[in-house]
Amino acid sequence: MRTLSLDTQQTDSPITVKQCRLCAAELHHTFVDLGMSPLCETYPAHTDLNCGEVYYPLCTYVCDRCFLVQLEQYETPQNIFGDYPYFSSYSDSWLKHCENYCDKAIARLGLSSRSLVIEVGSNDGYLLQYFLQRGVPVQGVEPAANVAAVASRKGIPTLVRFFGAALAKELIAAGRCADLVIGNNVMAQVPDLNDFVEGLKILLNATGVLTLEFPHLLKLIEWNEFDTSYHEHFSYFSLLTTVRLMEAHGLKVFDVEELKSHGGSLRVYACRAEDQTRPVRQSVSDLIEVEKRAGLSSLDGYAGYARQVKETKWALLDLLLGAARHGKKVAGYGAPGKSATLLHYCGIGKDLIEYTVDRNPYKQGRFLPGTHIPIYHPDRIRETHPDYVVILPWNLKDEIIEQLQYIRDWGGQFVVPIPKPAIY
Ligand SMILES: [Zn+2]
Repeated sequence: MRTLSLDTQQTDSPITVKQCRLCAAELHHTFVDLGMSPLCETYPAHTDLNCGEVYYPLCTYVCDRCFLVQLEQYETPQNIFGDYPYFSSYSDSWLKHCENYCDKAIARLGLSSRSLVIEVGSNDGYLLQYFLQRGVPVQGVEPAANVAAVASRKGIPTLVRFFGAALAKELIAAGRCADLVIGNNVMAQVPDLNDFVEGLKILLNATGVLTLEFPHLLKLIEWNEFDTSYHEHFSYFSLLTTVRLMEAHGLKVFDVEELKSHGGSLRVYACRAEDQTRPVRQSVSDLIEVEKRAGLSSLDGYAGYARQVKETKWALLDLLLGAARHGKKVAGYGAPGKSATLLHYCGIGKDLIEYTVDRNPYKQGRFLPGTHIPIYHPDRIRETHPDYVVILPWNLKDEIIEQLQYIRDWGGQFVVPIPKPAIY
């Protein structure tokens, strides 16, 4: 076993041997240990407040063979995603991003009324709706029945199932072979990664294209986005690891784009390895070179992360404790999944953030998991005039600051916790 300077002990356990989700190597190295947290998308109602909540360890490992950063699976996907409160359509900038993608994909791939677009993890139809509006046939797959029902009401055919090779074979048998397969922000949430990617390949016709979007591990490290680690996110990908994963299933990554969404994401284009119509573009080797220079092809690139995460915690606590001591009123904005990680890891409760607000009606009247910080309608901010508004979905910082300019009327300021706590 190698000796490491990662902020870690050796993580062998006498009880269980942890295995890499991608390459099955034993996992020996902690990437960062964020302590214990409840499931982040479980928002207790008032009647639940006297009940216990289950906390799970939030410790990510890095595989020393394929460098997949990963979390152990503690809860079944059925329990996590069966009734999922995440509706993709509540962010204006995200919807704009999706519409742009749709137009670009139709032009680049020449999609028409004779094509088929399949999206895995199609949520409430936030993306497929744009293909449908442009006359391109679509098929959604979404395991969360409540969000799938919203998609169906928009006229988007949606299978309420977990996706994998078995379901892909059923779709092919029913003649549903795809020109474009989309997996946006879903690969991180898949416990059986190899079965999932095998399924994606099965869906592709001979010249079909697969596009995947996911948060870029390089940005997670560079921009200190530790709160994007939570129990629903089992895996964290670099391009290096993604290429390896695709190759293991006979797929070829032929293009990649860097996106600003979700704190810095990649959009990876892949096709069948034998498809000669799509040569690998320079973008792929260029970005792999960037990742290698950042150290992501050895354990060195992962070593300093835990320290910078601690520094962020201390800085955010300094800021909020100072505000509390000076009698300032502090509210949150947003109740994203990642806020559970941020607040638990930093030890921030109602004493430091009195309440938060969210545009999603499902969350209003409920509470953040664990901390029980109440979630209200956004109007609450206008009514209570907080001195500071902590933007919990910091990836939407610009949009939220613009929407909430009115807090300047009473001298209000914004706190953005990531990458470094800062006041705007
Ligand atoms: Zn591995």
